[in-house]
Amino acid sequence: MSKVDEIVLPVSILSSGVGFGKPLFLNSQKIFEENFYLKKNIDQEILKFEKAIKKSKKQILEIKKSFANDELSITFDILNSHLEILNDPVILSEAINRIKKEQKSIQTILKDLLNEYKNKITDPFFKEKLADISDVFKRVLKNLKPSKVDILKNIGKKSIIISDEIIPSDIFERDSLTISAFISVRTSYNSHAAIIARSKNIPFVSNIDIEGIKNINMQDMIVDAFKGKVIINPTKKTSEKYKNFSISIKPSEKEKIKIQKDVNIFVNISSLKEVNQIDDKKISGIGLLRTELLFFKKEIPTQIEQFNVYKKIAKNLKNRPFVIRLFDLGADKNFYNIIENNKTCFFSSRGADLLLKNKKILQDQITAILKASLFGNIYLLIPFVKDLSEIILIKKIIKSIQEDLKISPSTIKIGSMIETPAAALMVDEIAKEVDFLSIGTNDLSRYTFASNKISLKELHPALEKFFKMIIKAAKDSNKPMFLCGEMIADKKILEKLYNLGIKNFSVSLKNVELF
Ligand code: PEP
Ligand code: MG
Repeated sequence: MSKVDEIVLPVSILSSGVGFGKPLFLNSQKIFEENFYLKKNIDQEILKFEKAIKKSKKQILEIKKSFANDELSITFDILNSHLEILNDPVILSEAINRIKKEQKSIQTILKDLLNEYKNKITDPFFKEKLADISDVFKRVLKNLKPSKVDILKNIGKKSIIISDEIIPSDIFERDSLTISAFISVRTSYNSHAAIIARSKNIPFVSNIDIEGIKNINMQDMIVDAFKGKVIINPTKKTSEKYKNFSISIKPSEKEKIKIQKDVNIFVNISSLKEVNQIDDKKISGIGLLRTELLFFKKEIPTQIEQFNVYKKIAKNLKNRPFVIRLFDLGADKNFYNIIENNKTCFFSSRGADLLLKNKKILQDQITAILKASLFGNIYLLIPFVKDLSEIILIKKIIKSIQEDLKISPSTIKIGSMIETPAAALMVDEIAKEVDFLSIGTNDLSRYTFASNKISLKELHPALEKFFKMIIKAAKDSNKPMFLCGEMIADKKILEKLYNLGIKNFSVSLKNVELF
């Protein structure tokens, strides 16, 4: 066999992790290009369309069943919005009327409709809706041809799926056992597909030069969705190096961190499905509930909806610590479109600052958390703090709601994320103002180095300095401290952080086995 060279390509990270596997190309656009002509008569075409709609609804209802325990999660909501599209009388009657009037095949009509929507819609929020419509249309078109097998249903173990665009339905029915990573050309961080991949812990990268790699003889691939690179045909040495990451493979005893008795392992939670998996005795509680990812409805969830979820989780945890972080919206997390002019850049208002500009959202969430605090051991965490004044203002609001609800301040602890360089530099003052601290290694690293790539290989001295300052502030003020973020997925760094004095690690569920 001819020797193949290792090729390394830069990519953007949508869902972190490391995936190994055989590449598999998927052409999701092609479905719109096939079968342009109306081959049968109009009545038959309409009947075929109606049957495909019915089949598509049935498929989505089936998928929904498998998410039955996840009723308030992102995935459930996306599935509901796909069902809404399939039941939308305007879209359906428009398609049928056009088949009649224009005498074109349903493929052509759906393609035309989609192009028209694309030209009309400029609002980024509705653009996401457009992605849903496109996904649903693709499903319907696939179902027009019942004999055609779904390529993704028949893949072997550990495949890496490469496509111009990965859409939610490519991910809904998959898991990390069969698919070790997704690579796309243009999927965005905020897309539903990326959000679902993150909630399923499947590595996902985008912005790959797909044309450039199509003609390469690809045998194996590594997707490094920590450093943002794809390695085609890795050498033996590279493969060995990546195996040490122990992300997608179960760590051997040798690879596990030497757990010390005083280490507490908490988990980061982004979906209700994950809550049902917290049965491992090693898990001390939830160290970070990413509430902005938990609901993902078109509107911010109501106070009652939030209360019911927080209460349910609190009861499940049976008094184990439960850290609920206030909505960390803004920048790349513009999920509810509450930012003025739909600005989604890394430097837009975010976290605490954005919440203070949207008081009703903040008050509702605090009320829901305070009410739920009567049912568990709840810690309220303030996200993306940049200034002490943000903490003081939010604490004032908490106090006033506590008084209104006649709930004692002792039912809840209030903490601050330390994930901006400004907060790290002000940590002494912040520590005095709060009951606990939580280091966000993802954002702290991103904003310290002004780069989206998080170094897993070694702890940079700049970050180490920050960590030392934060650890000292927590110690001096005698406040507990958590450490969250993807950086701690690396064993060497974990051990180093432990030696620096960090004892409460909050990791994603898949990384609990590293301990
Ligand atoms: C972090 O920044 O490390 C963190 C835990 O917050 P998130 O990843 O949700 O931004
Ligand atoms: Mg963060």
